[in-house]
This record gives sequence, structure tokens and C-alpha cells, in this order.
Amino acid sequence: MDGKTIGILGGGQLGRMLVEAAHRLNIKTIILDAPNSPAKQINALDSHIDGSFTDLDSITKLAKKCDVLTVEIEHVDVEALKTVSSQLNIPIYPLPETIKLIQDKFLQKKHLISHEVPVVESYSVEENTKENLLQIGDKIGFPFMLKSRTLAYDGRGNFVVKSQESIDEALKFLSNRPLYAEKWCPFTKELAVMVVRSIEGEVFSYPTVETIHQNNICHLVFAPAQINPSLSEKASIMAKNAVKSFPGCGIFGVEMFLLPNNELLINEIAPRPHNSGHYTIDACVTSQFEAHVRAVVGLPLPKNFTSLSTPSTNAIMLNVLGDVKETNKELEMCRKALETPNASVYLYGKSSKPSRKMGHINIISSSMDVAEAKLNYIMGETSGVSL
Ligand code: ATP
Ligand code: MG
Ligand code: MG
Repeated sequence: MDGKTIGILGGGQLGRMLVEAAHRLNIKTIILDAPNSPAKQINALDSHIDGSFTDLDSITKLAKKCDVLTVEIEHVDVEALKTVSSQLNIPIYPLPETIKLIQDKFLQKKHLISHEVPVVESYSVEENTKENLLQIGDKIGFPFMLKSRTLAYDGRGNFVVKSQESIDEALKFLSNRPLYAEKWCPFTKELAVMVVRSIEGEVFSYPTVETIHQNNICHLVFAPAQINPSLSEKASIMAKNAVKSFPGCGIFGVEMFLLPNNELLINEIAPRPHNSGHYTIDACVTSQFEAHVRAVVGLPLPKNFTSLSTPSTNAIMLNVLGDVKETNKELEMCRKALETPNASVYLYGKSSKPSRKMGHINIISSSMDVAEAKLNYIMGETSGVSL
């Protein structure tokens, strides 16, 4: 593996954690993003590329220095990637075709349906007009979820259309974006599964986890999900089937809804490391980041390499978000985590902005109850627990 260089489009926290994992295997990484982005800060070994990861010239510059390209974000210019791949004959994983299918959430849904993967009922919005949305509301009922097909993250492309009266506000909020509508999903839990696909097309799944969102942003992850093991297995099989439908290799995050009747529906798939997989750094034999690195350079992915470190490992991941008052209050939580045995703090080197993902905390224990007690302490809900 010595001597290989991975070019990464995007230098945020996911890129930063990919850099760490690659370096442990003597694999070099070069980042394409704005100067001083989080991944560049910890990776000063090579000349990075300053520029936009959606710009053809910058991607070409990057590709000329690398053996393989990957992405830490799906919002890239697929046509530029295809051009670079054919002109420079460099492998790109995930495949540009896969990114293209996934980056448009409505195309992604259609693709999954065509592969018999159950998804939330979705309807195209051909034109962003009140009449169209009234018709959709009549058909699928209120509330429904209006979503931007593209460039969505942390719920910033979503609007809950509560009633006919909220349509004007929804259209204003999502104006000029390509839209589709989803039936409201009365889920009891949100689950997620990280799946790795090898160059040969073999798929491996990490444990099924539960994710808890606040204001559409991932807040907590419980690993493994505290649900019936047969349901976890069902989620894992569904996630693997979904990922099998996308050619190419690398890691994928599969988000799901669990319904009151125990039915599972896929919400969306990310073709990259995912927030719901950050717990793997401390709880698993091989982290999601190392798994991705191994997959894209063709290193071994042995049986069970995605398993928890021990069968009794439990983990909670807590996202550290920028405080609404911009007071760096979130750092107080990190200090408490540092005081807590078996908790690890990861900071991303970003300046604080309200609701921005600034870092995360992993808590590991052989008992989920103990992990929760530690979480309560870290979140400031209890002043002292026996840690
Ligand atoms: P991400 O940061 O995960 O990429 P996103 O902007 O793509 O987020 P979604 O995953 O589509 O947004 O939705 C964000 C959250 O909104 C979901 O995790 C879920 O809590 C809620 N949500 C999404 N779709 C629905 C739905 N159809 N019915 C009810 N709640 C939903
Ligand atoms: Mg998304
Ligand atoms: Mg999501």
C-alpha cells in the first residue's frame, strides 16, 4: 500500500477523518477544497489544491497527482468527474454514475424502487406552483415533506408542509430549487447502517444503529440499535441490498425509518462516510474511514472486519454543534467528555456557527445504561455520576 495517493474532493470533517485513517496505512492523501479546510489542517505533507471541488480544472490538477480519487461529499460536478476519469484514466470511487444517481434524491428514490428496495412514497413536483402542491396534498395528505432534490444536507432542503396554508411559505423557503414531495412518515425510530462495497462487489455491513435527529440534524447515535435482533438483521439485509444496486466500491451510509408495524423504509443513502458511522472509530475493529480507504485502493476486507470490537461493545455518539449564541459553549461539553473515562473527543477545526457540526464525542461501554449515564453527565443533565 506504500506509495499510493488518494485525492479527496472535499476537505470537511469526513475528509479529515479519512486522512487520519489513510496515513496509518502509509497512504498519502491530497485534498481539493478551500485553503485551511479541516482536512488540510492535519495533512500538511503534500501540496494540496486550493479551489472548488466542483471545478473541472481543479479536479484535473488533483487527479494528476493521485492514483485514485474519492469524495467526502456527493455535491460534486459529475460531468467533470467523468471527463477527468476518461482523460486521465484514473479510477474514481464511488463511481460518477453512482454519485449522479444519489445526488438527486428523487432519482435515487426511483433507482431504489426499480431495484425493489422499499422507500418512502415520493412524488415529483414538475413545477413549483401552489396548484401542484395543493394537488399533491390532496393525494398524500397533510403534513407532507417537501424536499429539494439536490444540494440537501442537515435538513436544509426540507420543509414540512403542515397544511394548505403552509404552501406559500414552503415555496418561498425552497424557491428556485428542484423539488419533490414525500409522504409523511410516522416513524417510531430512525435507523442507519454503514455498508462497504469492495471492488469485486462484495458488501459488508456495520451494526444497525439508531439515530436521533434534532431540527433535522443528527444529534445522537446509539450503537448497536436497542431493537429486536431480527429487526436489526432485516435492516442490515435491506441496506446491503440497496448498496448492491450501485456499482463501484467504497462506503455508503443508509438511513432508514422504522414504522409502528416494524416495516422498514429507506430514507436516503449517502455514497461516503456518514455521521451515523463516527462511532466506528472507537467501537469497531476497523473504522468506517479505514474501510473506505481500504475499499478504494483495493486492500483486503476480511470476513467480519466491520464487527464491533467485542460482542458486548456499546457506543453512543454525540454531535457537538455550534451554539446558537456563538459563545463556544459547546466546548464545555467537550471538557466534560475529557473528564469521562471511555469517552473520546473529536474536533474538526472549524470556526463556530449556530448548528454547525464542530465535532463529535464517542462514549464506549459494555453497558448501554452506563454509556447513557456518561452521556447525561457530558450533556450537563446530571452533575455527578459514578463514571
Ligand atoms: P442529511 O444531513 O442526512 O443528508 P437531508 O438534508 O438529506 O439530511 P433528510 O435525511 O431527507 O435530509 O431528512 C432529515 C430528517 O428529516 C430525517 O432524518 C427525518 O428525521 C426527517 N424526515 C425526512 N423525511 C421525512 C418524512 N418523509 N417524514 C417524516 N420525517 C422525515
Ligand atoms: Mg441527505
Ligand atoms: Mg438524511
